[in-house]
Amino acid sequence: MKQLSQRIQSLPASITLAVNDKAKALQAQGRDIIALAGGDPDFDTPSHVVEAAMAAMKHGDTHYPAPMVGLPHTLEAIANKMARDNNIHLNPRSDIIVTPGGKWAIYLALAAILNPGDEVLYLEPVWVSYPPMITLAGGTPVPVSLDSSDNFRITAAALRAKMTPRTKALMVNTPCNPTGRVLTQAELDDIVAVAVEADLYVIADEIYEKLIFNGRSHLSVAAAPSMADRTLTVNGLSKAYAMTGWRMGWLAGPTPIMKLAAKVNSQTVSCASTITMHACTAALNGPQDIVAQMRDSYQQRRDFMVKALNEIDGVECRSIEGAFYLFPRFPISSKNSLELAEALLDKAGIASTPGIGFGQSGEGHVRFAISTAMRDLERAVERLAKVAHEL
Ligand code: GLU
Repeated sequence: MKQLSQRIQSLPASITLAVNDKAKALQAQGRDIIALAGGDPDFDTPSHVVEAAMAAMKHGDTHYPAPMVGLPHTLEAIANKMARDNNIHLNPRSDIIVTPGGKWAIYLALAAILNPGDEVLYLEPVWVSYPPMITLAGGTPVPVSLDSSDNFRITAAALRAKMTPRTKALMVNTPCNPTGRVLTQAELDDIVAVAVEADLYVIADEIYEKLIFNGRSHLSVAAAPSMADRTLTVNGLSKAYAMTGWRMGWLAGPTPIMKLAAKVNSQTVSCASTITMHACTAALNGPQDIVAQMRDSYQQRRDFMVKALNEIDGVECRSIEGAFYLFPRFPISSKNSLELAEALLDKAGIASTPGIGFGQSGEGHVRFAISTAMRDLERAVERLAKVAHEL
C-alpha cells in the first residue's frame, strides 16, 4: 500500500476530544467518573431556541440554505449582534459566513489567508487545535510563550521577539481557553501596534465572549482602530447558549477575505445546517437573560473551585476572568501533566486535560472544565483532597 498522508500523521488528534471520549466510555462501563475534561455546558439549550429549530423542520426547511453562507435572517441577526455587542460593523451579505461550529470558522480563516510556509504566531498556553489547524492550512505555527508568573500577560515585546519576514498572522483568544485570561486594553493596544507595524492579519476567537466575570467588559479586536480590515472574528453559540452539539459558529471579516473563505466552504462542507441557522436567529434575537444566568452560575462555580483547590496542599490555582476552565498547577509533584491527568483518572476518577496539550508552557498544569454540575465539582474537590499527597 502507498504511504498515507505524512502531514496528517504528524499531527496530534484533539486531546480535549480524546479525553472527553475516554471519560464518557468509562462512564458507560459503569465507572464513577467526574468529567472535567471537555468544555461542554451542563445546561440545556434554551427551549425557545429548540422550538425554532423544530418549527423549521416541521415547515420543511430542511434543504440547502440560500445563500449557502447563511440564511438572510441569520446573517442579519449576526450582523446586528456584532454591531450591538462588539462595535463591529459588517455587511451581512458579504462579510459573514455561518459555519458548522467555531472550529470550522478558525480553519476557514487560516485557509483563506495562508500561503505555504507563512508563519502564524499563537499565544501559549494555547487552545489545543490552533497549531494543528495552522499546519493543516499550510502554515507554520510559531508559539509566543506567556509567563504564568506574569498572569500570562501579552506584550508587544513578546510578539516582536517571534516576528520574522514570513510572519503573516496572529491568533488571539479572549477570554482564553485554557488560562481564563481576558484581554486588557493595554494588551489590545500592543496587539494593534504590532499588527499594524508588521502588516499582520489577526484571527480573534471570541467564542467565550459572554462568559466574563465580575462585570468586566469584553474587548473585540476588530473594533480597535485600524483593525477592521485585518481582523477575522470567530464566534458561535456553543458556549454562551449551551449549544455544543448544534455546531453553530460564524466567521466575520473583510469582504475580500470572506470571499476566499466562502470558496473553501463551497468546496468542502458546502454550508452549515439550515436548521441550526434557524436556531441561531432565535438565540441572537431572543431574550439574553438566560445567557447572563448561565454566566453567573459559572462564576459561582469558579469562586467555589478556586478557593477549594487552593485549600488543598500541593495544588495551586489562579482565579480566572472568563471562560469556564481552571488551570491548576501541582508544584510539589514530580509528575508531568500527562502522568498527573492519568493519576487523577486512576486514583480519583477525575477526567481532566493534561496541560501539555496546550503547549510546552502548559506543562505542570491540568485543565478542569467547570461547566459541570456543582455537586460534581464538590465531589471532585473531596476526591482530590484525598489523593493530592500521592500525585
Ligand atoms: N473547546 C472545548 C474544549 O476545549 C471543546 C472540545 C474541543 O472542541 O476541543 O474543551
